[in-house]
Amino acid sequence: MAKVVVLGGGYAGLRAIKVLMDKVPGETQLVLVSDTRTHTEKTNIHEVAAGTTKPGDISFDIAEVAKPQRVKFIQDTVTGIDLENKSVELKESVEPLTYDYVIIALGFRSETFGIPGAEENALPLTTLAQASAVADHIENQIKHYQESQDPNDLKVVVCGAGFTGIELLGELIHSTREWAKKYNTPNVELYCVEASTNILPMFDCGLADFAVDYLKRNGVQFVLGAKISGVEEGKVVYQKDEEEQTVEGNSIVWTVGVGGSHVMDDPAFSSKRGRSITQPDLSLNPDHPEVFVVGDVAAIMNPENNRPWPTTAQVALKSAAHAAENVANLVKGGSATPFIFHSLGTVASLGRTQAIGTVAMGGKQVKLKGYPASALKKVIVDRSLFYDNGVGGIFKHGRFDVWH
Ligand code: NAD
Repeated sequence: MAKVVVLGGGYAGLRAIKVLMDKVPGETQLVLVSDTRTHTEKTNIHEVAAGTTKPGDISFDIAEVAKPQRVKFIQDTVTGIDLENKSVELKESVEPLTYDYVIIALGFRSETFGIPGAEENALPLTTLAQASAVADHIENQIKHYQESQDPNDLKVVVCGAGFTGIELLGELIHSTREWAKKYNTPNVELYCVEASTNILPMFDCGLADFAVDYLKRNGVQFVLGAKISGVEEGKVVYQKDEEEQTVEGNSIVWTVGVGGSHVMDDPAFSSKRGRSITQPDLSLNPDHPEVFVVGDVAAIMNPENNRPWPTTAQVALKSAAHAAENVANLVKGGSATPFIFHSLGTVASLGRTQAIGTVAMGGKQVKLKGYPASALKKVIVDRSLFYDNGVGGIFKHGRFDVWH
């Protein structure tokens, strides 16, 4: 009787377990390990961080997907994986968890790149709890202004203008206006410090310019070509035009990039920033055809340009489904097949009513901006939430595939 272990309860882990439940023979043991009992729709985490969405609205019980009668769920933190002994080390368990096949889907961690003070003085944004902490912090500073009259209480500095930073700023436009009204303060100032001079390079310039103009019109002040070199209490230090400069603010949010889980730092995974280059069939390497790596811990190469696909929810969902199908084939005595990824599009939201995106339709990439892009995103995200909660759709029909 084969034992298949899936590590992680994010998009990739849940998609893998769902496919395994459908495809492996009934006698196969299925185990899912996650450090929380809930799954979080991480693509909406910026909304919680801006206070426009409640944490409960983007999370649900993992048991809704990993049915307890079929899957053994272990709530614990993975601390290591012993590839030679085919076992997983868990924080709370003395006994290692053995496997015949393992799918590693441990997700991402915030990356500080060793920038001094970033860990101590900036708020990370990778978990639901951190997102709630960001919203509470910003609101509390605005409230605090009433007694402090310190202008820095009304300044929010977002570090990094990647997807997360841009989507967060889009939401903050709304929530900071509401908080300023609630606590009767002057307007909140929003800053974004970014090393590159080119924002959202994955979109064509028409779409990227639309996003930047929209955010600027709504008060966001971009500091571009500014490489952050340190974070102090209430201050971001950066190098621009060969000079050290600073921007002050009592709410500093860190969206400067992510790496794969620290578990992947073990030399056995030959990872770079927590991501291992996979074999074409998504296995770790030819010595370990029983180990599959998917989602944000995987660098899955696009053979057309020999560069890894970006770490998005869409790649996580599709790679996880493929790895699970490969495991099911191997359990049944068949073989693993290469993963082929066709992007169905990418969308970046800019608050409640605006977005930019490219969506694959009829073999072409269609560009969308403004309200239509935002409406399309909402329809698909709503559907994904509905189906995730056990009604039977997203993981079965792949509706969420269009996103990220
Ligand atoms: P990111 O790596 O995409 O962006 C980080 C940004 O910080 C970059 O623009 C980078 O130039 C900047 N930066 C890095 N070092 C800096 C420094 N020292 N000083 C100033 N700026 C610096 O990270 P992210 O936005 O957290 O996204 C992480 C992953 O999640 C990405 O792969 C992204 O595609 C994905 N994601 C996708 C979506 C979506 O599809 N809508 C949404 C959120 C995240």
